[in-house]
Order: sequence, then C-alpha cells, then structure tokens
Amino acid sequence: MHALVERLYPLCRSITGNGVRRTLEIIAESVPLEVHEVPTGTQVLDWTVPKEWNIRDAYVKDPSGRKVVDFAESALHVVGYSVPVSATMSLDELRPHLHTLPDQPSLVPYRTSYYAEAWGFCLSQETLDTMGPGPYEVVIDSTLTDGHLTYAEHVVPGESGDEVLLSCHICHPSLANDNLAGVAVAVELARRLAERSARRRLKHTYRFVFAPGTIGAITWLARNRDRVDRIAAGIVLACAGDRGPLTYKRSRRGDAWIDRVVEHVLRASGRPHTVVDFSPYGYDERQYCSPGFNLGVGSLTRTPYGAYPEYHTSADNPDFVTPEAMTDTLETLWEAVEVLERDRRYLNLSPYGEPQLGRRGLYGSLGGRSDTKRDQMAMLWVLNLSDGDHSLLDIAERSELPFSVVADAALALQRAGLLKEWTG
Ligand code: ZN
Repeated sequence: MHALVERLYPLCRSITGNGVRRTLEIIAESVPLEVHEVPTGTQVLDWTVPKEWNIRDAYVKDPSGRKVVDFAESALHVVGYSVPVSATMSLDELRPHLHTLPDQPSLVPYRTSYYAEAWGFCLSQETLDTMGPGPYEVVIDSTLTDGHLTYAEHVVPGESGDEVLLSCHICHPSLANDNLAGVAVAVELARRLAERSARRRLKHTYRFVFAPGTIGAITWLARNRDRVDRIAAGIVLACAGDRGPLTYKRSRRGDAWIDRVVEHVLRASGRPHTVVDFSPYGYDERQYCSPGFNLGVGSLTRTPYGAYPEYHTSADNPDFVTPEAMTDTLETLWEAVEVLERDRRYLNLSPYGEPQLGRRGLYGSLGGRSDTKRDQMAMLWVLNLSDGDHSLLDIAERSELPFSVVADAALALQRAGLLKEWTG
C-alpha cells in the first residue's frame, strides 16, 4: 500500500485531466477498472461537468534565470485549474497570485480554483521571503478545454443485487493521506475481496468508485440515479494512513446498517477510535447523504478532514502516512466486510424451552478452551433472539459479544439442526 502511495504521489491530479487518467491506469495494474469519460458540459444533477484541465509545465524564474517556483518539483506549486500564463512581471504584480502559509512558513499549501478562472502559484513563505522585486518570468503551460471528466469503477460481484459502495476521491495532486492512502487501502481491500470470492462467492456485490471529489461523486450519482436503491451500505474512505486513531462518521440516517456494523467492529476491536454524527461537510458522504439520496453511507478516516496541521500542505507527503496505519484501516474494513457478509436472521427451530445442547454435542463441545463459556453464551443468545426479528448484529450488540463469536455460534446451531436462516 505504501509503495502505491509513493508511486501515485508525484502525479498532478485534479478533478479532470491526464493526472487522473494516469492514476487510474496505475490502479488498474492491481484491480481491473471500468473507466468512464463524461464530456464537458454534461448536466449532472445541479452541476455541469467542467472543462478538462491539463498542465505540462509551470515556473517563476527570477532575473538570474533560476526557477524560484517549479512545477517540476511538486504538483502543489500550481493552483489547480490555473489558466495559461506567459508574462514578465514585478513581484508586486505577481504577489496577488502567490499563496503561502505564513503560520507554517516552510510548507507549500494546496490550492485550487475549479469554478472561477484564475491562475496562481503556491510556495513556502520562506521562499517568498527570499524573493526580490523582480522582474520575473511567469509561465503556466496549461490547457483548459472541452474534454472529459474521468472516473472509474471496480466491481467484485456477489450473490445478491445488494451492493456495498466504497468511494475514494482521486482529485488531489501530491498529497498522501488525502487521499492516496485511502486509494491504496481500497485497492488492497478490492484484492482481498477478489481472493475471498475465488474461494467462496460473496453475499454482496462490492462496488469501488474512484472519482474526483464532489463533481465526480455527483456525476456518479447522476448516472446511477435509478439504481442507488441497491446500495445496502457504503463507506467513503479518506485520510486512511496517518498515525491518528480511526474516526467513523455516521451516515445522515445515523442508524443505517453500515453505522451499526462499523461501530460494532470498532467497539469490539478495543482500538482507540471516535464516532461522530453526520454533518454536511467533509468528503463525498455529503453527496451520497444529500437528502434526495439519503444513502446508508458513512465515512471512515483516521484523523478527520482538516484536523491535522499537515492537511492540504506539502507536509502531507508519503512520510506522513505509515504502512502500519494503512494496515490497521484495512483490517478494520475487513472486519466490517465480515459482518456485512455474515449478518442475517435465523429462526430457532426448537423455541419451546431451551433445546438440550449437551445431547447434541454443543454444550462444552469446545471444552478446555477459555473462550468456551463465551461460545456457550453466544449460543444461548442466538437461540433466544432468533425469532426472525433479530439479526446476528442485533444479537452481538445486545449480548456485547464480538460478532464473529455470535456468527460462529449460529453456524454451529444451524449445523445441529436447531436454526434455519430466516427468509422473511
Ligand atoms: Zn482534501
């Protein structure tokens, strides 16, 4: 995962353009992608697909011919969606187009101007402080023309038409946690799902959406409006690799299946974590949870949006994200997948009095193990609540037992003929 972050890091991504295409090509080396190209001017919900932006080079050259600011060093140096410029100007003239972080003087900020035609450079305050009056040669070799918005999907099919959505934004240039770590974790999750599905068919279909933030999610929703009711659960994955603890942001519904699944996984894992309620800000949960759609889609991050000093600066580089943190995020998602896959309702076929477990080899069948008592408690809970109204997740929540223990107990009881799956 970390190697993928490092490989994708230098590319100049934006909401459209060849940086996004190249990013998707690299992802497609790991998992097959269906790439969609949506023409400029296409109406998508209340928005319009913008012109496509591409950039070859950009710099600010001082009177000695030295490049003081050089796009070739970092994609962050140019304001995203800058219109082309070729001019000579004094520092005073150039100054309104220069963006720095005076409070973090060694860092380069990340800035964009998608929906207002503008141009600019981002640099450290320390660099700006060394700049004399000029004149400077200012070049941005970019194009802003009719083209396409590019996004991609990867689908791991399952038995049912129910879908689990995993959505990542791919529009940020050289920023690692926001959101290359999320992309890398999603790719690894997709590979794991493919491996698992090769052994045993998955219950749900898993749909990964790699799309530029906001406009990409809006485009996806516009083009899938008549099929979003298939989405049984979803997660917007971002900031998946910093050293902070996990944060789960609930869907707008607050008690959607995914909310209960992730909260259970986090609680049962003993990991330090935070759960926060939905708010109409952040990543693309804003779109999936807009009131017309109101999907059961939450957001998983480590340190959330804007809450770390490296956020949207050159300090969000590959050193800021760790393999350990990305692995922890991946394992959390994997545990959530296990719950999504195994959660179902059963019917107790012997509901009058407790069935005699000992006679069936279930009571103390795991004798000698310290978790025997826990397994027996799980069987009693499953038998008692399997009336068609309670799912295994309901039972895990109520019994405060880990989901996997409850699900294993249900499997043992089903094999003993005491349960059958509830089909409604
Ligand atoms: Zn961001």
